[in-house]
Amino acid sequence: MLPIIVLIGRTNVGKSTLFNILTKKRNALVSSLSGLTRDRNYEFCYLEKNKKFILTDTAGFDFESKIIKTQAHKQTLIAMKEADLILFVVNAREGILPGEYEILKKIRKYQKESFLIINKIDGIKEVEKIHEFYSLGFKKNIKISASHNQGINHFINKYLTPW
Ligand code: GDP
Ligand code: MG
Repeated sequence: MLPIIVLIGRTNVGKSTLFNILTKKRNALVSSLSGLTRDRNYEFCYLEKNKKFILTDTAGFDFESKIIKTQAHKQTLIAMKEADLILFVVNAREGILPGEYEILKKIRKYQKESFLIINKIDGIKEVEKIHEFYSLGFKKNIKISASHNQGINHFINKYLTPW
């Protein structure tokens, strides 16, 4: 069995963009519209000989919308349950929002290995905004820009080894 890695986080933080980069495919629906990836989306991800896993993209948690919330939340929770590693993606531009604490509670409940992925660091000048995320208490805080391909190789080489 290959290890399963799941991408979770609020909507629009860049989960599907990162999913597409890692799977090198374009079949995750990337959009600035909220809540388009309703179900779990799996892909085999063969980055190198020793980096083979199944990557799961999720709709994540949309704390503003009430329409597709139930289904999206449910699917995301199932994906978390199945996973060996959780990648919690946050948006460096927005800082920590209340939704992040809700997600953190769910991660703690599952007690799985988890990394914090601080995305959208492109063009960010206020370093404090990024440092704020360290208070979430993750041992591994990884700064990337999925759309600008920054920090991706470092992330793959340093962190996506057997954890
Ligand atoms: P998801 O809802 O978490 O899956 O987010 P998406 O991957 O669909 O991305 C939401 C929006 O953020 C899209 O318009 C992306 O192009 C944009 N985006 C994703 N990653 C980055 C990034 O690193 N920097 C910037 N500036 N925009 C990004
Ligand atoms: Mg998505």
